[in-house]
Amino acid sequence: MHSLLDISSLSKKNIATIFDYASSYQKKKRDSILQGKDIVIAFFESSTRTRCSFDLAVKRLGGNSILFDAQGSSISKGESFIDTIHTLNQYDVQGWIIRHGHAYAPHILQQETQSIVINAGDGSHQHPTQALLDAYTLYSKWGSLEGKNIMIVGDVLHSRVARSNIQLLSILGAKIFVSGPGTLLPRFLPNITIVPTIHDAIHEMDGVIMLRIQLERMKNGLIPSKREYARYFAINEAMIVKHDNLLVLHPGPANYGLELSMECMNHKNVLIREQVKYGLYIRMAVLKHCFT
Ligand code: ASP
Repeated sequence: MHSLLDISSLSKKNIATIFDYASSYQKKKRDSILQGKDIVIAFFESSTRTRCSFDLAVKRLGGNSILFDAQGSSISKGESFIDTIHTLNQYDVQGWIIRHGHAYAPHILQQETQSIVINAGDGSHQHPTQALLDAYTLYSKWGSLEGKNIMIVGDVLHSRVARSNIQLLSILGAKIFVSGPGTLLPRFLPNITIVPTIHDAIHEMDGVIMLRIQLERMKNGLIPSKREYARYFAINEAMIVKHDNLLVLHPGPANYGLELSMECMNHKNVLIREQVKYGLYIRMAVLKHCFT
């Protein structure tokens, strides 16, 4: 039994086991490993995919989910994060799945509870299950990520998806490149090749992970204009057709027209729908990893 707060707590062997669980849930669809367990799904930030798939994953594994949404809760009456945790802790739940706008909120929660904690995204810090489902989507196509060239494109600075993916894809042996406006790249990116624009290295890539521009975490003036951003860092159908083996991922929600063009959506190499589908199996697999 263990929590999942960040990718650094996973070994290569753990990741392989999670992928095995996910592929068996892809066939089997249900299990009863969470029978009799109550799990709080506490979301202090918006979500569609992560929240719905975790809720469904808990139910498909026979558990009981308690949805806590900060909007419409006593947070709006001024109740604090810690008070909220202590309130829900009184119900003697066995697990927490938490998303929060502040980095390390899941770590604070772990200090306050004996239950298992799964990080469903904390500020710009980590989003371990997104990275796992991204890697699993590529693994399903390639069988191994060893030696593959993968470029992460866009707003790396504000992206928890990028931070978790950089760690996870490195553990799996991929070579990581990043490309984005200088204002949206972290100062320190060890062992990573920085590429000025997507066009400079797309021909060498096996996969690209397009990131959403995180306007909600951004101060003004970080990109000159949306049009210029798209010119250097967006992907369109012609680019995908030209590089036929290139696989394209985006964690969603995508800003079509900004990070990728609308007509990309239906291209066979754009795996956004597969990512959503595999997200459910990966989250079931992560629950099995954490609770058994
Ligand atoms: N859905 C992902 C996240 O919660 C990516 C994004 O919002 O841009 O981090």
